[in-house]
Amino acid sequence: MISFQQVEKHYGDFHVLKGISLSIKQGEVVVVVGPSGSGKSTLLRCINRLETITSGELTVNECKVSNKKADINKLRRDIGMVFQHFNLYPHKKVIDNITLAPVKVLGLSKKEAEETAMYYLEKVGIPDKASSYPSQLSGGQQQRVAIARGLAMKPKIMLFDEPTSALDPEMVGEVLDVMKALAHEGMTMVVVTHEMGFAREVADRVVFMDKGQIVEESPPEAFFVNPREERARLFLKRVL
Ligand code: ADP
Ligand code: MG
Repeated sequence: MISFQQVEKHYGDFHVLKGISLSIKQGEVVVVVGPSGSGKSTLLRCINRLETITSGELTVNECKVSNKKADINKLRRDIGMVFQHFNLYPHKKVIDNITLAPVKVLGLSKKEAEETAMYYLEKVGIPDKASSYPSQLSGGQQQRVAIARGLAMKPKIMLFDEPTSALDPEMVGEVLDVMKALAHEGMTMVVVTHEMGFAREVADRVVFMDKGQIVEESPPEAFFVNPREERARLFLKRVL
């Protein structure tokens, strides 16, 4: 579903991704961990071409992202992304936040889009908030709306960039639970997070990045119990 081959990325003189090779199969849940500044967000953002790579090959859902002629609109339709800051439209009701893209991009009727929106609001556990405005919701509820909004586009891949980092601690669990359910339904997911419990429980693989490189890539049991690389050991010592 996602294949990085020897991907390099520079921001001007700064070499942010170095020799990234990574393959992710359909239905896999890959959790990316690593120190701040190691390139995790950049790696995610290359997948839907919010960032362009400098060299190497990147293929996502049969789309050659590294090719200038790639159909980026199609690529992005198939990929949902959830950010640390929920990025909801503050002046739109929850339901309208969710129906916007399905109507505009997929051409659904307003009624179909609303039915879809309600289905996903039920799924994330807040159907009663459909007519509220984002500011009337807690952070955890807003993030669940953001996830429902992503799902309403029926993506093949969901990317999460520190989806719980901006939340008060008591709201982290409700968002992780929604993500867990999604993982169990077979969604292909790439998740950047500092929630090591989530990584341990839900990830098929943990990818540890440091200074723009993938230093270690292991099943969670191996990574958390006995990381191969010294840098991974030091990182775990700090976060666990
Ligand atoms: P992480 O998500 O692991 O914290 P990022 O991918 O956000 O790391 O950033 C990796 C490095 O690239 C950081 O040192 C950051 O300052 C730098 N960087 C990120 N985005 C840009 C940009 N648009 N221009 C220049 N440097 C950037
Ligand atoms: Mg980041």
